[in-house]
Amino acid sequence: MVAYISTRGGAGVRQFEDVLLAGLAEDGGLFLPIATPKLTPDVWQSLKGRSYAETAEIVLWPFLEGTIEHGVFRTMVAQTYATFTHAATAPLTQIGPDDWLLELFHGPTLAFKDFALQLLARVFEHVLDRRGETITIVGATSGDTGSAALAACAGRANMRIVILHPEGRVSEVQRRQMTTVMADNVVNIAVQGTFDDCQALVKQMFNDKGFRDEHRLAAINSINWFRLAAQAVYYAYAAVRLGGLERPLAFSVPTGNFGDVYAGTIARAMGLPVHRLVAATNSNDIVARFLETGSYAKGNVMPTTSPSMDIQVASNFERLLFELEDRDPERLRAQMERFAKEGRLEVEADRVQRIRRLLAGHAVDEAAVAATMREVFATTGEVIDPHTAVGVAAARAVIPDGDATRVTLATAHPAKFPDAVEAAIGRRPELPGWMADLYGRDERFTVLPADLRSIQDHIRRTA
Ligand SMILES: *Cc1c(COP(=O)(O)O)cnc(C)c1O
Repeated sequence: MVAYISTRGGAGVRQFEDVLLAGLAEDGGLFLPIATPKLTPDVWQSLKGRSYAETAEIVLWPFLEGTIEHGVFRTMVAQTYATFTHAATAPLTQIGPDDWLLELFHGPTLAFKDFALQLLARVFEHVLDRRGETITIVGATSGDTGSAALAACAGRANMRIVILHPEGRVSEVQRRQMTTVMADNVVNIAVQGTFDDCQALVKQMFNDKGFRDEHRLAAINSINWFRLAAQAVYYAYAAVRLGGLERPLAFSVPTGNFGDVYAGTIARAMGLPVHRLVAATNSNDIVARFLETGSYAKGNVMPTTSPSMDIQVASNFERLLFELEDRDPERLRAQMERFAKEGRLEVEADRVQRIRRLLAGHAVDEAAVAATMREVFATTGEVIDPHTAVGVAAARAVIPDGDATRVTLATAHPAKFPDAVEAAIGRRPELPGWMADLYGRDERFTVLPADLRSIQDHIRRTA
């Protein structure tokens, strides 16, 4: 069985279920495996021609072994991806001679987060049922995590779900996808602040041991290890389909909290050949700046047309930093303390250089995002969303023609961000028919100040 440790060194050696249910380690660090399980070359070859669900079953089994019976897991994976509306689950679309989109927006909430969260919620339900336990899932969202988490958890046994979103800073489609979920186990809070405020509040709730134990808090944002592992699957699926076991493939990943692109590093650690990963950011470029300069320094959050990436602290960055500091928890802790105090930290140049060969960063400004949506539409007829446009622009800037096949992760359906798309291409993308009544549904949510006590009181009251 895979064993796990915390980046901060204070959680001992742990098993999958602890890591699954806790999310954040009790020492404030993030969990990761002591050694990532590797699939043999034969197993990688055997993925050729497999469906998405079969690929997920094979890639994820090393993490689940010992927790769930194989047959139960197989059924669970099949049910998870049966909720997706495209027969290929994650279809590939060609947008240039050696340029592809991996469409990750055919799930219930039209964004890539459905891939991991639909599965995570089912694994949670299964494990909690066996243990006879209940939990309260608490998450912060800049839009897409919240809706995907709610869609995955609504009405499931043994869990309540509380989602904090920044009031007025998510798109109307994103808000409605959250606030129209009427299941009894759902609590929606609109926080008067930014996404970073929401994320800080969630961290504070986890650090309040009394509160955490009283409500059995669990995390569902992208710090949860299993969520990242589940995202490694689509890298494998796309690579196998595009011949990536035999020729170089580069993935460009629209990046906010650094979870999705980190999942690419998991796929690679499991043995998938990956030529390069591009962490594509919008003007909120803390990750791109770090990869260019070695300096990780907080700026101000700027609202953009790709709001799911409007952040200035990337919660999964700590996992990368852990590797860069040679998995030394003391060095890691010193760095994180410095960042907490000063809002910045520096990593030595030779350490950053090591990672740069695999992982490049690139920031894309708003004019280039709009120009990319226009250009892709004009040359292919494909309508892409602003997050995806960030990825396409970065892929073309970083990966020269002929170096590798470029695959951009298309992280959201264009109809989730209709205003930005219409402004760029002069045409308003429509929601898929099965979601067309979204604007007519009733909403339910509570507005609260960005204050820990108010939010904890509300969670107690509604328990
Ligand atoms: C969440 C999200 C991202 C950023 O993903 P991270 O894992 O936080 O880096 C990018 N695009 C869309 C549409 C998202 O919802």
